[in-house]
Amino acid sequence: MKLSDPARRRYARNIVLPEIGVAGQEKLLSAKVLVIGAGGLGSPLLLYLAAAGVGTIGIVDSDKVELSNLQRQIAFETADIGRSKTESAADAVNDLNPDIRVVQHPVRLTVENARTLISGYDMVADGSDNFETRFLVHDTCFSLRKPVISAAVVGFKGQLSTYKAYEGAKNPCYHCFIPETPPAEIMPNCADNGVLGAVAGVMASLQATEVIKELLGIGKSLSGSVVVFDALDAILRATQLRRDPACPFCSKQAA
Ligand SMILES: [Zn+2]
Repeated sequence: MKLSDPARRRYARNIVLPEIGVAGQEKLLSAKVLVIGAGGLGSPLLLYLAAAGVGTIGIVDSDKVELSNLQRQIAFETADIGRSKTESAADAVNDLNPDIRVVQHPVRLTVENARTLISGYDMVADGSDNFETRFLVHDTCFSLRKPVISAAVVGFKGQLSTYKAYEGAKNPCYHCFIPETPPAEIMPNCADNGVLGAVAGVMASLQATEVIKELLGIGKSLSGSVVVFDALDAILRATQLRRDPACPFCSKQAA
């Protein structure tokens, strides 16, 4: 792919970064990233990936835009209420950057469709809001040997990590971190517990940054670390995540 003059101007602040340059920008434009969920995380994440010139962006979401989404899901406007989220998000992405190819998947990710959906992409950014989907995304990405950058947010707190345990050794899997799905009744969720939109935006920005780093192979991968943000305490820190030799998932896989 040769960069056109308008593309050189659009991505000038990327290209001037020595870690990106023209070659890195061309790599981003050729990249295919699947975003799971166009919610509080997925919505700003999509916009940052599109602005940076990630060439193909898939969006998985079966919901329609609701009034209560607009407090944090900044890809949508009031006039979008009642529209399909994938359609609405695709418009927002292409208004921002018409060069991006958006692929709409207006479905729920299921055991039946996960492998087919994910296999068309280089990498997955998971912004889903439940453990069932997170485990499904992780396990499918593991078997397809594709990295997943997974973020979660509730209240004033968020966390983020990258999983590529198929590379073995120092790369823990999602099950090393969370061995089994916690019972739904003890898990906080945004509908019952609330979430500050700007906190989702912080986590989505960090997630977009890690996606771009992984696509370009620059900097330190977040595989083996978890970034935790606590907005009320104004603390952002990374803690080490170790591979569990007794992990119920990755210890049983040949990696
Ligand atoms: Zn594991």
